[in-house]
Amino acid sequence: MKVGVVSVQGAVPEHIRMSQLAMEIMGLSGQIISVRRLNDLRTVDCLIIPGGESTTISKLLDKFHLFEEIVDMGSRGVPIMGTCAGCVLLAKEGGEQAERTGMRLLSLMDMAVDRNAYGRQRESFEAELDIKGLDAPFPGVFIRAPLITRTWGECQVLCRHQGEVVMARQGDIMAISFHPELTGDPRLHQMLFSMV
Ligand code: GLN
Repeated sequence: MKVGVVSVQGAVPEHIRMSQLAMEIMGLSGQIISVRRLNDLRTVDCLIIPGGESTTISKLLDKFHLFEEIVDMGSRGVPIMGTCAGCVLLAKEGGEQAERTGMRLLSLMDMAVDRNAYGRQRESFEAELDIKGLDAPFPGVFIRAPLITRTWGECQVLCRHQGEVVMARQGDIMAISFHPELTGDPRLHQMLFSMV
């Protein structure tokens, strides 16, 4: 199995480390690569879009000619996990902030997000989360996190925190508003790899 971590900006090494751990636990052999070139992107079996700054990542995906290919991969059913800024990019609607900045979204999931939704209240925090498909709580690390404000169509809610949606799934694409790569818990990475 070949795992790609989009590495134009953001929390790349953390995702690589967590992917290694998840693969070890699952007894999978394979490779984890940083993806910045189209030729590399085309070789992966699943993809992680990390947290960072969604406007910057969006622009760089375009600049490095990765944008269209990611949309195409998602549409073909290649498993994708987007965390935090990556969660924002997967949405069809980005809310008022995204509109104001003219950010281009991958539009792979039937959901609307609100960038920095918590930021205005609390920059970062941790919370125990109950996630559908996991049998014990997951440590959620939120950093200037977005919220999923609306889902429709094929998009399923997998987790809420205080009533608000913080994780959703559509087919084999997962949007996570927090940072599973910053914990010691590889279960969400395992969830992604089990879709391959
Ligand atoms: N607030 C950032 C954005 O919307 C995301 C923050 C993060 O990825 N930690 O781009």
